[in-house]
Amino acid sequence: MLKIILMGALQSSANISANLLTHFPLTRIWGAGTGNNTINSAGIARSDSRNKKPAGKVWLVGAGPGDPELVSVKALRVIRSADVLVYDRLVCPELIAESPRDAIRIDVGKRPGHHPVPQGRIEEILCAHAAQGRTVVRLKGGDPFIFGRGGEEMLSIKSAGIAVEIIPGITAAAACAATSGFPLTHRDIADKVTLVTAHYKDERDRTDWRALASDGSGTLVFYMGLSSANSIQQQLIKNGLDPQTPAALVENGSTAVQRTVYCSLNTLSETVIEKQLISPCLIVVGKVVALAGSTGETLQQSQLLNKKRINYSI
Ligand code: SAH
Repeated sequence: MLKIILMGALQSSANISANLLTHFPLTRIWGAGTGNNTINSAGIARSDSRNKKPAGKVWLVGAGPGDPELVSVKALRVIRSADVLVYDRLVCPELIAESPRDAIRIDVGKRPGHHPVPQGRIEEILCAHAAQGRTVVRLKGGDPFIFGRGGEEMLSIKSAGIAVEIIPGITAAAACAATSGFPLTHRDIADKVTLVTAHYKDERDRTDWRALASDGSGTLVFYMGLSSANSIQQQLIKNGLDPQTPAALVENGSTAVQRTVYCSLNTLSETVIEKQLISPCLIVVGKVVALAGSTGETLQQSQLLNKKRINYSI
């Protein structure tokens, strides 16, 4: 079972004000490159074809959950420096558009049950471009190291002798909780968060349901769980979790079309069908969900649609 338990505080992303950036352009904050590489306006070296010994590199970059503003300053800087951008389905178009106009943009997006570019081929593409001295940005939804195959990609790039660096992103669990208005931990009711995949490489369920269900003082977050909602519900109840435990289904979290639907564990699977929830959707089970102060369905749509258009000024 791929399981991550987060204990302690989640690190908040850096908050760099527009004012600071006006006084300290990115070239000064991060410094200029050296050698034969050219320095673009974001202050990062782009490879120069005249360089005799090209040293390409792959950046595994977290694009965040969907809201184009929920991305780090560092990620944005690197996207703007890309010679090649290799991106997933869940990456928002606004971020793709931030790559240089002459960058090679490659869509390797997977849909549930449909992987047009096999994982091995994605890794070959990354290595092949970097081997030619290019700055390759592999842009992945959420955080690259949480159920994103970022680990596999990193190992494959390293074993090809190519430099690789990771830029974390805001994972769906953190974003969906924040935008729905409930915390993932709370000193009185949840002292841990467990991130669980409901989808395995070989489709065999290796989840330790007893361990997940035995502890009512934690928050359970299921990624890729929509088609397994019935089994999540049955297994947790069978293994002892209170059927009345609050649950939330968060569809398209942090985007303009986000939908958060609240229910309890014993109505989880019927809610998926009744509300016709679609992917990407996150399932959160735990007492913290009740802190959103809401029962029934909450549509965030109207609130989010009023947002201004994104204008990156950094
Ligand atoms: N690396 C990603 C997760 C990739 S697995 C991350 O850190 O967030 C893909 C699963 O993540 C989806 O099936 C869904 O369960 C969840 N997910 C990703 N983005 C989401 C979003 N905006 N809203 C709800 N769930 C999301």
